[in-house]
Amino acid sequence: MFRWQFTLLLLLSTLALSAAPAEEPVSLQGFSSSASQAEREWEGKFRAIPAPDNLRDYMQRLSARPHHVGSPYDKDNAEWILSHFKEWGWDAHIENFDVLFPTPKERLVEMVEPTPFKAKLEEPTVPEDPTSSQHDEQLPTYNAYSADGDVTAPLVYVNYGVPADYEQLERLGVSVKGAIIIARYGGSWRGIKPKVGAEHGAVGCLIYSDPREDGYLEGDVFPRGAFRPRDGVQRGSVMDDTLYTGDPLTPGVGATKDAKRLPLKDVQTITKIPVLPLSYADAEPLLAALKGPMAPAQWRGALPFPYHLGPGPTKVHLKVKSNWDLKTLYDVVAQIGGSDYPDEWVVRGNHHDAWVNGAEDPISGTVAELEEARAFGELLKQGWKPKRTIIYCVWDGEEPGLIGSTEWGEEHADELARKAVAYLNSDSNGRGYLYVGGSHSLEKFINGVARDIEDPEKKISVWKRSQLRRIQDASSPDERQEARERLDLRIGALGSGSDYGVFVDHLGIASLNLGYGGEDGGGIYHSIYDDFYWYTHFSDTTFVYGRALAQTAGTAVMRLADAELLPFDFSNFADTMHKYVDDLKKLLKTQQDEARELNKKIDEGVLTATADPKKAFVAPIPEEIPPYLNFAPLENATDALTESAQRYHKAVEKANANGGASLAMASLSSLNALLIQSERRLTNPKGLPGRAWYRHEIYAPGVYTGYGVKTMPAVRESIEQKKWKQADEGIAEVGRVLGSEAELINSAAAELEKITK
Ligand SMILES: [Zn+2]
Repeated sequence: MFRWQFTLLLLLSTLALSAAPAEEPVSLQGFSSSASQAEREWEGKFRAIPAPDNLRDYMQRLSARPHHVGSPYDKDNAEWILSHFKEWGWDAHIENFDVLFPTPKERLVEMVEPTPFKAKLEEPTVPEDPTSSQHDEQLPTYNAYSADGDVTAPLVYVNYGVPADYEQLERLGVSVKGAIIIARYGGSWRGIKPKVGAEHGAVGCLIYSDPREDGYLEGDVFPRGAFRPRDGVQRGSVMDDTLYTGDPLTPGVGATKDAKRLPLKDVQTITKIPVLPLSYADAEPLLAALKGPMAPAQWRGALPFPYHLGPGPTKVHLKVKSNWDLKTLYDVVAQIGGSDYPDEWVVRGNHHDAWVNGAEDPISGTVAELEEARAFGELLKQGWKPKRTIIYCVWDGEEPGLIGSTEWGEEHADELARKAVAYLNSDSNGRGYLYVGGSHSLEKFINGVARDIEDPEKKISVWKRSQLRRIQDASSPDERQEARERLDLRIGALGSGSDYGVFVDHLGIASLNLGYGGEDGGGIYHSIYDDFYWYTHFSDTTFVYGRALAQTAGTAVMRLADAELLPFDFSNFADTMHKYVDDLKKLLKTQQDEARELNKKIDEGVLTATADPKKAFVAPIPEEIPPYLNFAPLENATDALTESAQRYHKAVEKANANGGASLAMASLSSLNALLIQSERRLTNPKGLPGRAWYRHEIYAPGVYTGYGVKTMPAVRESIEQKKWKQADEGIAEVGRVLGSEAELINSAAAELEKITK
């Protein structure tokens, strides 16, 4: 009942807004009408400044040489970025951290049976691609934070190597105990593969790029096309950052010179078994020689032979040894002091380190951030004064494990907890649609920004284009209707995978991750071919989407920095929390239904009667039916949240009446201070079960998905892992933080009601 009213409210406000004449824009969220007008003028000036040619020049310079952590060009880039911030009038410095970053000393993969073969483990020069020849400076192909090891064992193919794959292997009578596993990239974050493999007794792990999802099945391969060539390898970190991100030696504190460091042997985030990545050229002979059961149909890739599971007769010798040195990070941190509220910070970031030349990842995003910084420098000269302090960070050490941002966030945790309004992140950027993930209290805000950005190819707003895409892609009539009628487009929740991690997950700072993409596929991720030649031939070749990113992120920063009333909104947040609770209830119901069905089939003898007697089959044992859980604490809390959100929304509407005169007159400091704390309220200082570093009770990366988000993780993951007592405790805890959030929103509404009385 309550929810139905809420939906109607949204619908009515849709109609109200679409009825307003286009020439007479309503005031920006959080601005009185006079302030809104001034803001729109400054934003218009800002958006005219970013220039594609500059983005191109910065990219050429920053990706000219390999610039991974610890390399000379990584430091050189940081200093170049610093000098530009200074030139553009920012107060800027470099902040250093000393962190554990292993680099390879020995790498070996060879097939010893049935026929000898030695993997190349090398990406060759492509003649037309000038930087692909810089072999002396390139990091070899490897997975950082793999344990050292030297093992020889039979090979088993495990598909993506996620927990569900092992259930299927068990049915097929295949064990990985004592084996080396080979998994294809995809289906999860790469670090999950060695982690789950080791949990099942594997002694080594190979991860390869299958041409089915990363190679010729998608299109022409590089240099003829954008996709991964035979010898292309995806490097990447396998650090278990579902426990904590950042420097493995200094969890929870900044990795400064004199920080207390864990001994290497006590580090939990390094893999338990050795791991190396392979190209499909190197993986092909190993997989082709496997026998044993055929791989299930869904597991087969695009290499030209039948996929078997093993174990054997392929026997592999895998050897990995690293230099376990500390390397220095160079975070560039720059600021423009706020004129009215210097102690309220709007923080923006993108990383600058790469695995190799990294034109796409991360420089395509870095250059947008730099162009925003230049444009703000221009505005300062013209007299613009942001009300709040703007802090621009260009991070080092993202690739190994979000290290530069994590260490900075941990080092400045107390100050950030008091001052940070929001964190805005970007990373790789390309051609296509605007993608946004983040905190749902900023959903309405970022929808407003997206309505003001023009798509460079279609000349409609990037908001409109995303909406039309959603109508096109909707998988049900309900979804289609929502795409057409909901006032704001939903944003996804953040898991992990870029530098917003420490801000949202650990510090509880409202965060957004922004980027364009979807129209420029490619297969150069984390290889030597992710470079200026590839980017300027196959991605955002005219840099107009780089400009769009600068316009989007820069407009968002300005609006947050200049708003009289911080533009948080809780209606969409409450709506999303209701959805998450419904999802949890459905998840439990599905698990109960599936367990009942399985047990019934076992009783009926369905599984044994239909298994092919000539093939191995291990019958499952009956499952315990998941108990009912009491979701009432969550339901009560989300209802309270909806009520408080409506009250706040009404108070804002009243404050906006008469051109928002009361907003312009009143002191909003204490109200804004409350709003700044709203995301902090969603955290629990004790952290999530089994991983104290992760404190956000609504968003976290999944323990077994990595990048993939688990919403209300203390409840969801407990249900998935069948830990019922822990699920009950999770429900109480998430209910508690949401109740506390509702109280904060009520206090904010009360303050606002006082002002407008
Ligand atoms: Zn990146």
